[in-house]
Amino acid sequence: MKVVTVGTGMAAAEFVQRLRLEGLKGPITMIGDEEFPPYSPCVIPFFLAGEPLETVYWKGRDFYERYGVNPLLGDPVTEIDIERRQVRTSGGRIEGYDRLLYATGSRSWYPKPQWLETRGVFGFKTLTDMVAIDRYVRENRITRAVVFGGGFIGVDAALALRHRGLEITLVHRNTRLLSQMTDEEGGRFATAKLKEKTGIDIRLKSTVDAIIADHGQLTGVRFSDDSSMETALLIVSIGVSPNSEPMTGEDRGVAVSAQMLADPSIYCAGDVAVTPHLVDGRDGIYATYPNAMLQARTAARHLMHGDGVYPGSINTNVLKKHIDFPIVSAGSFSGEAVTWEQGDIWRRVYLKDGKINGYLIIGDTRMSGYVYQLYRSQKRVDRSIKAILASPRHDGYYREMLGVRDCGSSVF
Ligand SMILES: Cc1cc2nc3c(=O)[nH]c(=O)nc-3n(C[C@H](O)[C@H](O)[C@H](O)COP(=O)(O)OP(=O)(O)OC[C@H]3O[C@@H](n4cnc5c(N)ncnc54)[C@H](O)[C@@H]3O)c2cc1C
Repeated sequence: MKVVTVGTGMAAAEFVQRLRLEGLKGPITMIGDEEFPPYSPCVIPFFLAGEPLETVYWKGRDFYERYGVNPLLGDPVTEIDIERRQVRTSGGRIEGYDRLLYATGSRSWYPKPQWLETRGVFGFKTLTDMVAIDRYVRENRITRAVVFGGGFIGVDAALALRHRGLEITLVHRNTRLLSQMTDEEGGRFATAKLKEKTGIDIRLKSTVDAIIADHGQLTGVRFSDDSSMETALLIVSIGVSPNSEPMTGEDRGVAVSAQMLADPSIYCAGDVAVTPHLVDGRDGIYATYPNAMLQARTAARHLMHGDGVYPGSINTNVLKKHIDFPIVSAGSFSGEAVTWEQGDIWRRVYLKDGKINGYLIIGDTRMSGYVYQLYRSQKRVDRSIKAILASPRHDGYYREMLGVRDCGSSVF
């Protein structure tokens, strides 16, 4: 049986590794639009902050050799012919398959793609972006940058560059940073702490409306209030779209079955897959590393053994790189809010029918693994949640008190 993956990212690498560990002997081809071995986008900010490039190759730089993979790199897949079981690349290559994994992730969305033609303007999504930013910062001795977009990835970018020693202005259109992973009050708390503890200059309710350039070189940006700022580095990170066009013709993701099948011979996993939420059942793209891993494992299990069911995704978010006050959230922020705060610590759980409907924990997140398990298992917690928020104790205490079997580890 010949297996092909479209994409060489986290989901594809996990899938291939599982197939080989389970004993699949046939040929495997991985097709990627970048030139690298599989890497972890979660880790690329560490490279930009100064760690060696090796750290991003989470399954080893020699992945292709170790797992007997034929890599076809630097040539994106443009079309999938389901009838003929063939994929076509932009370079004109045609590759047949018996089973395909479609795992192309997502790409940055740019308000004005032509900005990227100016030297000094970058996205913050891929290792290609990261290598280019790193070289540009070094060669031009860049000391300050503007980051446009204060969502998870924009904040990740700002923190990494700040860690590297740059002065950062972070521009976000909303009233608070991280608006998708926080509620209003928690987001304001997180924004204030980020400002206070990192020294990042945060401009809220603002956008970058224009860039200022001289002979193709960025020299500054203009904001929505018509003020401007000199800078030779602009990172744009204001949203992503799933890379689903070669599969569906549209950029809305790929619908899959509980076996992660999009077609009887095509699995799909990762940030391009539309899956149901584990707790509330809502279909969506839940673009995190743990979801991508579980989806890839479900697909590999089904290919090898013909069984296995994906239980659903959880919209967890964990921001903890380059800061000493992690921010963790999951679920939705509706229901009865139970809040506990003290100094730099802020914790809130939303209850619905006595069960956790969502939570946001900032500052000290040691108990977020317990809260995650309680949320996931939908146990009633109405009487105990205040004590958990106020006074985190050791693993065994919660196991006994709440009857949760595996509550020790956080999701990351
Ligand atoms: C900066 C950053 C930080 C992150 N931090 C975290 C974190 O802390 N925790 C967390 O849970 N998640 C984090 N994520 C998200 C996490 O990286 C993704 O959820 C995960 O990588 C999804 O795996 P994937 O295989 O679906 O996509 P990817 O790992 O992005 O891989 C997709 C691959 O497909 C390739 N591709 C796309 N189109 C084509 C095509 N047409 N032909 C061939 N190849 C193609 C892409 O180049 C890419 O290599 C972060 C993401 C970024 C960008």
